[in-house]
Amino acid sequence: MKKIIIVSLIVCIILFIFYKNDDKNYNTNETIVTNNIIEPSEINQYLTESSELNSNTKIEYISKGMNIDKFKEILTKKEKYVNKGTTYTHINYKFEKHLHYEELENIYNNLNNSKAVKLEVIGQSYDKRNIYSIEIGYGEDEIMFEGNIHASEIAPTLFLTKYAIDIVNEYENNNKEINELLKNHKIIIVPTVNPDGYEYSLFGKKTINDNESFVYKNDLNIEQDYYKANLNGIDLNRNFPTQTGGLYFADYEPSFTLVTEKSTERLEYFPGYSLGSEPETQALIYWMYKHYKNSHAYISVHSAGQVIYNGKPSLSDEFNRLSSECASIVNKHTNYEILGKDFEDEGYGNDGTSTDMISEIIHGYKMSYITGRLSTTYYKPTSNTLKSKMCIITIETLENYTQDLKVIKTEYNNKNLNSVFTELTQFKA
Ligand SMILES: [Zn+2]
Repeated sequence: MKKIIIVSLIVCIILFIFYKNDDKNYNTNETIVTNNIIEPSEINQYLTESSELNSNTKIEYISKGMNIDKFKEILTKKEKYVNKGTTYTHINYKFEKHLHYEELENIYNNLNNSKAVKLEVIGQSYDKRNIYSIEIGYGEDEIMFEGNIHASEIAPTLFLTKYAIDIVNEYENNNKEINELLKNHKIIIVPTVNPDGYEYSLFGKKTINDNESFVYKNDLNIEQDYYKANLNGIDLNRNFPTQTGGLYFADYEPSFTLVTEKSTERLEYFPGYSLGSEPETQALIYWMYKHYKNSHAYISVHSAGQVIYNGKPSLSDEFNRLSSECASIVNKHTNYEILGKDFEDEGYGNDGTSTDMISEIIHGYKMSYITGRLSTTYYKPTSNTLKSKMCIITIETLENYTQDLKVIKTEYNNKNLNSVFTELTQFKA
């Protein structure tokens, strides 16, 4: 009898260990769906031989263009959805403590157990963490939210995670309004573009796997909770292969934040030796090309200043009009100040942001073989025919930049961010 008990105990322990391991290792849970986001035969529609930058404009180069083969590889990537587990368990998230990225991953995998959710791994970070896209809803009409492209800006991750949890909880409670919302729309959220940066800025050097990384080697000189770039020292929000990314016009004074090498200083942003070089940037490029055609809005969430950036002076009037409408929605709930297209400096060496990229994609810009940047036959497009009718805005939440959870929680509640995100989801472009 004793023997039987001991043997069954051992079996239980082994099963428990297996179960535990399985639970932690999400990579093994992924399924590869055979869909390409763009068929290889159609890829030439996204490339061009032309380049308006061959003109006489005097340009200073910081970064080389993007590797064209890499760009093609991203466009023909296959989707990678995560297998569902068992049943959805209600999450009660109240911003109570700082969560490790692994704990956030547990939340995303639990959300994935809801019928309303599909979870995709859109890429991996420099330090090999999964970058997730959470798709909530069944509707054709999509909205894209992206947060935490800057390492220490963890508030957007928490806002977007909280929002996803609230929506899915209500769906599971059979809330009629939410059911209706998800029948007509699909809310698509990348809560953390820069998961290594999230983990490093909150929990420090010990979270870094790669001992050769720029941040690991320079940790002593970095203000961890103000750090912006990825572990490789590249500001992801300058690394996109846009028309004027990684360069500035020599007639202008370059942006004071622009630097030509990796830097540990708080306000020095380096766009990279070549554009589109970072795995996080590449994940987001994939995600943009996958969803832009069905989306009516792209919302980039940051965390300093309580302002809303909208509009790009070189792009179409219709796009600028739509973007200012979305800015007004945010302003109505939050009172954040609206900063329109006159506040967008172009050609000063601070282009190459994620919103520059998606804005140029919807204006039909193509990747130039010559420059490795998006390109159009006109320098300033006069056409108002958008490939996708979208508003594209950047929301700077929080009065002053902080990682203080009390302040973050108050902002979410007092600025009605839940209502902001839902009203943007319902926006008709
Ligand atoms: Zn930022």
